[in-house]
Amino acid sequence: MDFGSLNGVAIAALPFILILIVHMWHRRPTFARVAAASTATRDSMTPTIIPRDKHPISRKDLSDSALKVLYRLKDAGYESYLVGGCVRDLLLGKHPKDFDVATAGHPDEVNDLFRNARLIGRRFRLVHVRFGREMIEVATFRADHDSQSDVTDSHSRQSEGGMLLRDNVYGTIDEDARRRDFTINALYYSVEDFAIHDHANGLADLNNRVLRMIGDPESRYREDPVRMLRAVRFAAKLEFTIEPATEEPIRRLSGLLADIPAARLFEEVLKLFLSGDAVITYQLLREFDLFRYLFPLTDKYLRENTDSTAERLILEALRSTDNRIRRGKSITPAFLYAAMLWHPMQQRLQQLRREGIPPIPALHQASQEVTQQQGRATSLPKRFSGPMREIWELQQRLPQRFGKRAEQLQQHPRFRAGYDFLLMREASGETLDGLGEWWTEFQEADETQQAAMVQALGRNPKRPRRRTTRKVHPE
Ligand code: ATP
Ligand code: MG
Repeated sequence: MDFGSLNGVAIAALPFILILIVHMWHRRPTFARVAAASTATRDSMTPTIIPRDKHPISRKDLSDSALKVLYRLKDAGYESYLVGGCVRDLLLGKHPKDFDVATAGHPDEVNDLFRNARLIGRRFRLVHVRFGREMIEVATFRADHDSQSDVTDSHSRQSEGGMLLRDNVYGTIDEDARRRDFTINALYYSVEDFAIHDHANGLADLNNRVLRMIGDPESRYREDPVRMLRAVRFAAKLEFTIEPATEEPIRRLSGLLADIPAARLFEEVLKLFLSGDAVITYQLLREFDLFRYLFPLTDKYLRENTDSTAERLILEALRSTDNRIRRGKSITPAFLYAAMLWHPMQQRLQQLRREGIPPIPALHQASQEVTQQQGRATSLPKRFSGPMREIWELQQRLPQRFGKRAEQLQQHPRFRAGYDFLLMREASGETLDGLGEWWTEFQEADETQQAAMVQALGRNPKRPRRRTTRKVHPE
């Protein structure tokens, strides 16, 4: 072999080899960036620790009961943290609604540590530790249901569509963070070091006021469609923007809510509408087409009736609820449901009247039917549906003020709610011939004035003279 000529070829190829090396060198940073990016993705769940002097949460912001639970767990050797809404809200300078604890201790172990504890839940086993009126919810770190091959079916179950039917596979804090819904809800506060452990880049999202689902949004919504309602609730309550990938599947998957038990949806309705941000929450629910799964009759009515009285009534009721919460006044789901279902109920009532059914039985039948149909979407416990129907009945009775009736009506235990409801109906555009104003004056008047007001109404036109109505009894 002529090595000399081979050398010549190598020398001739040298510029090309150099070009190749330079080319590869230029590509090197690209590889490095990809590597860095993949590490970032993989590492995004290794927590960033924010030490005590770098965050504003101090122990005096925390409930004593929550601290008691955390210290008891810590002393028993279980890693434990405050997590979820309380950490998020404190970082946003808001007052937390409640304090939730996450721990490595299993529910039975936690339950054994406290005399005032109770095991609850099936789909999701939890421990409630009660201190007077306050309750601390303690959840064991959860793992992905398919991350442990040896767990039996009794701990975890998923429907064909991917919905989690049971979610009791326990794991580490890191696994627990992945199972939470939004990044801002996966911030953990530790009493070991008083630091915040950020497992999902939640702090960055919190600072940017962004609501971002952890993991793939579509499969997380499929696992638990209630997360769509939660997205809307947090966006409204915190005034956060829903990040595009988190927002995109919602309208498409809204129908999955049809499979959620009515009792769970009732609980969600309470959180959505009785937390002080009901108006904006309602608007978002309608925008994302989620409202129809909570109030199907109302949604249908609103779509079919272009006249805006029904929507104005709903908005009046929600605005008044938000105001009452702001002023620390009591609120009841009965009033909310009365407003939501008033127009669908009236529609049915008018239909029954046209069929010749007298007013009172027609009202009873319409109320019953509407309550029953609503109950298929969100349950409505009797202690609320009863007062709701009384508010409706009062609407039928408030125009009848003749003789002693006005005075008696004022003594009705639900009078105040019925009167408030009447004012809201008027404010929404229903024309009731100044009935609300009459009742306002009546309540402010003294006895003589009241008597004069009733007198001024004249004789009850519906009531025929006695002589003509008296039945002649057969002897
Ligand atoms: P708030 O109590 O202010 O309404 P929150 O975020 O604390 O808001 P909770 O319902 O108390 O909401 O739940 C506590 C935490 O549990 C949440 O922050 C979240 O991390 C987790 N979580 C609750 N519900 C779900 C869910 N459906 N899917 C995933 N994680 C959830
Ligand atoms: Mg909470």
